[in-house]
Amino acid sequence: MQPRPFEYHSPSSIEEALELLASVPGARLLAGGQSLVPALNVGEQRVAALVDISELGLRGVTAGDDGITVGALTRHRDLELGEHERAALPLAAEAVRHIGNPRVRNRGTFGGSVALGHPLSELAAVCLAQGAEVSIRSARGARSVAFADYLDQPFQPRLEPDEMVVAVRLDQRPPGSGAAFVEIAQRTDDYALGAAAAIVVPDPGGERIAEVRLGLVGAAPTPTRLDDAERLCLGRAPDDDLLTELRETIAASPTHPGDPFVSSAYRARIAGVAAARALAAAWARAE
Ligand SMILES: Cc1cc2nc3c(=O)[nH]c(=O)nc-3n(C[C@H](O)[C@H](O)[C@H](O)COP(=O)(O)OP(=O)(O)OC[C@H]3O[C@@H](n4cnc5c(N)ncnc54)[C@H](O)[C@@H]3O)c2cc1C
Repeated sequence: MQPRPFEYHSPSSIEEALELLASVPGARLLAGGQSLVPALNVGEQRVAALVDISELGLRGVTAGDDGITVGALTRHRDLELGEHERAALPLAAEAVRHIGNPRVRNRGTFGGSVALGHPLSELAAVCLAQGAEVSIRSARGARSVAFADYLDQPFQPRLEPDEMVVAVRLDQRPPGSGAAFVEIAQRTDDYALGAAAAIVVPDPGGERIAEVRLGLVGAAPTPTRLDDAERLCLGRAPDDDLLTELRETIAASPTHPGDPFVSSAYRARIAGVAAARALAAAWARAE
């Protein structure tokens, strides 16, 4: 199939892109095109106009006292292979390796993934574990929203049609913490059946878990943190008993709707397995 005809705009600044988004009826942003272009090609989506932001800067990772900021047009490949990016965001570097294939990672962007709001997004699990905040701009102004409050429904982020994600800020990881990302999928370039991003902080004696954050994919309709699962880990050593209890706790509350191929219960079980593996790997990496 061919996409329906649409206008194409190639603005030379973010401000111009925001003006176009506000003034051209039905305009949509085009970043890496890895989700939007296939959807246009098969007629799943139609647009009146595309505003191409792919070459407008906003690419790169900066670390400061207030956290680590990822520009919206930072490509998955930058996080996967860039020396500076890998050092600043090792958890994201581990996660993006599971996104699609090298072609997708070459073009796909952090901001595009966040704007898409896919329920099985690896980067969403990282954002939850690492306390992310989404920076958003429009011709009307700027605002930011905690990632935890950003996505209630699959593919329905809290983003107005005239708004652009310009950056995502993630917390610096606590000193001494370990982090790991584990994904289970049917094939390497498939979306996850279940995945988990774990950050764990040992207590001063190095024997028990003092703090934990688990960003889970597959356990609920959208990427989530489960209070029960995290509370279970506090003050405990990550031994076999805890890992079994963690798996069972996550498997016991399947709220993902499932689909004709993968049931809700199976997804939650897989998410539990991924979480237990991620917790054990994060602990092994903690100082
Ligand atoms: C074969 C294949 C496998 C894939 N596997 C995975 C996977 O396993 N995990 C995963 O997470 N993703 C996967 N993806 C999707 C990939 O991560 C995309 O890069 C991502 O979903 C969208 O990023 P993009 O830059 O390509 O956005 P685009 O496709 O350009 O845009 C996607 C949507 O976001 C909007 N948008 C883009 N940028 C912004 C912005 N800055 N502000 C506001 N709105 C914006 C667009 O208007 C559009 O609606 C896969 C894609 C393909 C083709």
